[in-house]
Amino acid sequence: MLENKVVVITGGTRGIGFEVAKLFKKNKAEVIIFGSKEETVSKAIEKLNAMNLNVSGYYPNLKDYSLVEKTIKDIIRKYGHIDILINNAGITSSKKIEDTTIEEFNNIMDINVNAMFYMIKAIVPYMKENNGGAILNTSSMVSIYGQPIGVGYPTSKFAVNGLTKSLARELAPYNIRVNAVAPGIINTDMVANLPKEVIEPLVKTIPLGRIGKPIDIANAFLFLASDNASYISGEILSVDGLARS
Ligand code: NAD
Repeated sequence: MLENKVVVITGGTRGIGFEVAKLFKKNKAEVIIFGSKEETVSKAIEKLNAMNLNVSGYYPNLKDYSLVEKTIKDIIRKYGHIDILINNAGITSSKKIEDTTIEEFNNIMDINVNAMFYMIKAIVPYMKENNGGAILNTSSMVSIYGQPIGVGYPTSKFAVNGLTKSLARELAPYNIRVNAVAPGIINTDMVANLPKEVIEPLVKTIPLGRIGKPIDIANAFLFLASDNASYISGEILSVDGLARS
């Protein structure tokens, strides 16, 4: 479904992003993964290579716009164009407001929102030059209803939805579609690190009766990235087993 498409995936070293990298590569895209460290990026590339899925990788500090811009320029020099951006890197929080430091709150906003903006700002000029593209952001089900603890995380994901809907309008005239996927509870490290008190009550509220798998989310990204979704922009697609309250 993605032949000749060049795809950049942030947070591509594990969890949802790793599964997206796998699925996109199987669908013949040229896949470039971003991670936070050289070591994790190399390990992810090795794992994918072992499956005969050859991808490349980078590890720019996503909090530094000049490094993001430099890395994107490098990719353009090598591949000529970027067709799809999957803005997926993210961190969570499960602390009460009194226990959340200013640095922790700012860090969540830096990674979950500001880095997303940096990636889009650096790539959009090339997508415009190339007469189109697809930008996909990872939101969350907490971007609709909030969550009872860890306010920085839902705050950041509400911002992701705002950025998605607004840029969809701004970039539509350039044939650049901007959508988000809002996962429910998905079985990745991020969820394994959450306390039982947060997870258990949530699982009980899932009408489809199970936690989601990374492939459930990757399939939604594949659809939204492909030409099958060529008339869809500004959507926040819930993929959550209906766990929305
Ligand atoms: P994960 O913790 O397994 O993976 C997170 C990814 O983000 C990793 O590849 C990591 O390298 C990257 N990352 C984290 N901090 C970074 C930093 N400082 N700089 C660069 N990269 C960094 O988590 P996941 O569950 O795969 O989460 C992926 C996305 O899905 C996140 O945006 C998350 O908010 C969202 N999400 C996850 C769930 C879930 O239940 N797992 C639910 C809703 C939304």
